[in-house]
Amino acid sequence: MSGQTPVSITTDTDHLIQMAVAHVLPETRHRLCKWSIIRETKEKLTHVCQTHPTFETEFMKYVNGSETIEEFKSQWKSFLERYYLTDNEYLQSIYSACRHWVPVFMRETFFGDVLSDQDNDAKNTFFNGYVDASTSIQLLIKQYEKALTIWHEKELKADLDSVNTTPVLKTPSPMEKQAANLYTRKVFIKFQEELVETLANPATKIDESGTITTYHVAKFGEEHKAHTVRFNTFELTANCSCLMFEFSGIICRHVLSVFRAKNVLTLPSQYIVKRWTINAKTGSGSTVEEYRLELPSNSQESLTMHQNSLRQEAIKFVEEGAKSIHHYNVAVNALKEAAKKVAAAKKKNADKTLVNNLVNGCNQVVDEGDIDLVDSGQSKGRGHKDIILVGKASNTLLIRTNLPPNDKYCVF
Ligand SMILES: [Zn+2]
Repeated sequence: MSGQTPVSITTDTDHLIQMAVAHVLPETRHRLCKWSIIRETKEKLTHVCQTHPTFETEFMKYVNGSETIEEFKSQWKSFLERYYLTDNEYLQSIYSACRHWVPVFMRETFFGDVLSDQDNDAKNTFFNGYVDASTSIQLLIKQYEKALTIWHEKELKADLDSVNTTPVLKTPSPMEKQAANLYTRKVFIKFQEELVETLANPATKIDESGTITTYHVAKFGEEHKAHTVRFNTFELTANCSCLMFEFSGIICRHVLSVFRAKNVLTLPSQYIVKRWTINAKTGSGSTVEEYRLELPSNSQESLTMHQNSLRQEAIKFVEEGAKSIHHYNVAVNALKEAAKKVAAAKKKNADKTLVNNLVNGCNQVVDEGDIDLVDSGQSKGRGHKDIILVGKASNTLLIRTNLPPNDKYCVF
């Protein structure tokens, strides 16, 4: 853990494990395995499941589908009343621990969950086929190592797939292409799912105050379930009430929908979580550099992307530079230097454009020996060897260019 306390941990429901985690990792958000609780519920309430076929489906719906804590609490209450289970001690006990296992209570904490419920269920069966109730402690250690080796092999294969194969893109979006190059395959598939869903989840502006614009984003026909996204126009940041990014590190369809409305065409760097990228293990390649590589060099689209990229870099610069007076002075000097370099690059570009225009528009190209009137060569722009003003008569301008194979003079 590199000397750092983990943000979150997920364990079995065992009481001793809970006590150990509370003792050793008091600052860490402790989550109990939801799938263990669901399995235990089915076992404890087998008779209810057999009598009421809809019980299990409803139970899962309230556990997984609640959008707010209030919604979960009120639905749970009416759910128990409907099945006459208000006095059931087991259900009372799991309800009292709901803060530690029902997803809606943990959305503000990063758990690194990007897997679907089916995948998570499979993950929970890590030891299936390796150990059972009769496994001795000696055999358990051997089987544990065996299970771990198989798990590592699966991970290696997934890594190879991510690096060596190209996913099928479903949209012409530059953001999808960028994500395909950045993310591991599994994470990209999840991201792609969210991106495609933006087509069915339009963003509607409801308020604007300073740099903050607020949107409601909802699926067609489900406006009552709208999520609220607050978008900062200057910083290109957005927060969604669903808190999916905070929980999983993958940006949600609601924020992506707002990005689409605001013409944010590539993923802002602060939304690229390194652990989900292809280079997460090697540490090679900065996501910002990769992000730059995705920028095309022309077109109106690229102009917007350049502006967005520069804005994000500038914001980070401002944040770092404001931390102390020393940082501030260094930052100001660096900005002045940067301004000079940008101005020089702009001038160089303008000179090149001038030469190109002159060469393309000249009336006649002649050799040096054919020229009678030549002023002493005057360099125009230090270090710019490609443009030298050599002579100027009443209506004639002579420009020497360094076009190969020999110097030529253009007459205008
Ligand atoms: Zn959202």
